[in-house]
Amino acid sequence: MIIKMKKNAAQEDIQKVLNRISEAGLSANVSTGESLTIIGVIGDVTLLRPDLIEEISGVDAVMRVSRPYKLVSREFNPVDRQIKIGSITIGTGNFVMISGPCAVESREQMLSSARIVKRVGADLLRGGAFKPRTSPYDFQGLGEEGLKYLKEASEETGLPIVTEVTGEDKIDIVLKYADVLQIGTRNMRSYDLLKKIGERTKDSKIPVLLKRGDNATITEFLNAAEYIAKEGNENIMLCLRGIRTFECGKFVRNTADMGIIPVLKRETGLPVIFDPSHSSGDRDLVLSYSAAAVAAGADGLIIETHCDPETASCDGKQSLAENQLVQTFKLCRRIRECLVQEKAYSW
Ligand code: PEP
Ligand code: MN
Repeated sequence: MIIKMKKNAAQEDIQKVLNRISEAGLSANVSTGESLTIIGVIGDVTLLRPDLIEEISGVDAVMRVSRPYKLVSREFNPVDRQIKIGSITIGTGNFVMISGPCAVESREQMLSSARIVKRVGADLLRGGAFKPRTSPYDFQGLGEEGLKYLKEASEETGLPIVTEVTGEDKIDIVLKYADVLQIGTRNMRSYDLLKKIGERTKDSKIPVLLKRGDNATITEFLNAAEYIAKEGNENIMLCLRGIRTFECGKFVRNTADMGIIPVLKRETGLPVIFDPSHSSGDRDLVLSYSAAAVAAGADGLIIETHCDPETASCDGKQSLAENQLVQTFKLCRRIRECLVQEKAYSW
C-alpha cells in the first residue's frame, strides 16, 4: 500500500498516518520529495483499513502497490538511490567505472592488472576469487588466496574491491575482503543465497552488485533484488550483462540488453550498471557496447581488463588491454559530459 500525501501536507498529518500504520503492527517507508511525501507500508497490509487512512487530513490517495517487488520499486520508493563506498558515490548522477580481470590468477597478474585500472582512472577494482565456471575442468579461482591478492592490489591502488560470492558457505570469507559483493548471473535465482546475503549485510549494508540472470525477465530480476532488500539491505546495484537469445554464441556471447537500462531506471531508483564484457564476449565490441550503455543512462560500467589478455585463464577474449580501456573510458566520459550538458536525464 502506498499513501500519497497532499502537497505540503503538515508534519502532524504525516505523523498521524505513521501512527496508524504502527498501531496495525506494520512499518513504513517515508520518501520525502520537495513538496510531496509518499509513505510505503511494509508488511501484511490487510491489517490496515484504507478508509481509516483516507480520513486523515493531508492524505491525498491510498493506493495498492501494483508491483510484486516493493522496496526496490520506484512506485513504492520514488527516490533515486545513492550508494556510497568510501569517497565514491554511485547513482543520482554519479557515474562509476569498475574494471579488473575476470579472475584473480596470481599475485603478479592481479597487481599488474590493478595498476592498469588505477592508471586509467577507474573507481573500483573487480576480480573473481571464486569463479562459477560452466565446465568443472576449467579454472575455478584461487579462493581465499585470490582474495588476499585482491586486497593487496586494493591497498596499493586505493580502489575498493568488487568480488563474487558463489555460495552461502563463501559469504563470511568474501565479507572479510570485499567492499562490494557481486552475485553472478548463475546465482540470480539462488533465493537462499540472496536471503542469506541480505540477512548477513543488513547491519553493514555493504553494497551488492546483482547481475541479471541470463534468461530472467525484468520482473524476475527485480524480485531477486527484493529478496536482498527485504532482509534489510537496500544498497543494491542492478547489473545488466546480456541475455540468452537465438543470437548467442556465433557472433556474440550474449544479446546485449542495454535497451533495458532506461526501463530499469523508470521502474526502480537503484543504480544500473552495464557489463559490456559478458554482453559481447568480444573485446572488439566492448567500446561500442560501453558507449551505447552510457548513452542509455547507465550509472556505471563493469569492464574486464587484463595485463595480458592473451594468457588470461578466464574470459581473455573479452578482456581489454590497457590502450583499449583508455579509449573506452575517454569516449564514455565524453558521452557522459554531453548527457549532463544536455540535461538528457533526470540527473
Ligand atoms: C564475471 O563477472 O566474471 C561473471 C562470471 O559474470 P556473469 O555472472 O555475468 O557471467
Ligand atoms: Mn568474466
